[in-house]
Amino acid sequence: LFVCFEGGDGAGKSTQSGLLRERLEAAGRTVLLTREPGGTPAGAEVRRIVLDPATGALDDRTEALLYAADKAEHVAAVVRPALDRGEVVVTDRYVDSTLAYQGAGRSLDPAELEQVARWATADLRPHLTVLLDLEPSRGMGRFTARDRIEGESLEFHERVRAAFLVLAEADPAHYLVLDARTPQDELADQVWARVEGLLP
Ligand code: C5P
Repeated sequence: LFVCFEGGDGAGKSTQSGLLRERLEAAGRTVLLTREPGGTPAGAEVRRIVLDPATGALDDRTEALLYAADKAEHVAAVVRPALDRGEVVVTDRYVDSTLAYQGAGRSLDPAELEQVARWATADLRPHLTVLLDLEPSRGMGRFTARDRIEGESLEFHERVRAAFLVLAEADPAHYLVLDARTPQDELADQVWARVEGLLP
């Protein structure tokens, strides 16, 4: 079973992915909890390049290809092998983050980006994506140094949010959209209610 958490910065993805891991382990499952960018040693280098303010602003295509390389390595070296071992894989961000940030955020062609992301991941798709939806102005407390370097605006994060919602609305069978303002333990219950039914 392959589950992704998606959403804007400060929506609580890492908290919820950790809580889901606890519940899965309590139910006797072996869980691999991972994240993008940075889920492999090479990915950690990519994460450093794309998120370190010292890198300066990158060309949009350069940035998209670095994220794609992170994804390719992550799927090939971590996600796919764990799924093949029968483990539950929970990832904090996946392809939708690319479509939302590099696509809607940066204005790269969404169809081209999707092709690149599908190629990078050998078209491995999650069984469920949990979207923690949050108004960007509420997540802005966690605005990063990188955002400041790149001058990312509230509008940038609003485009990102809208793109996540469009992806979720197009495919309700594979998405769970939750209001990220809900208390963490209630959110964890809502996630578990959906995940439990998907366990093999
Ligand atoms: O969620 P996490 O802290 O790992 O994300 C780090 C940053 O990477 C986020 O602030 C997000 O803006 C950025 N990111 C991105 N494109 C992706 C994935 C993450 O711009 N595909």
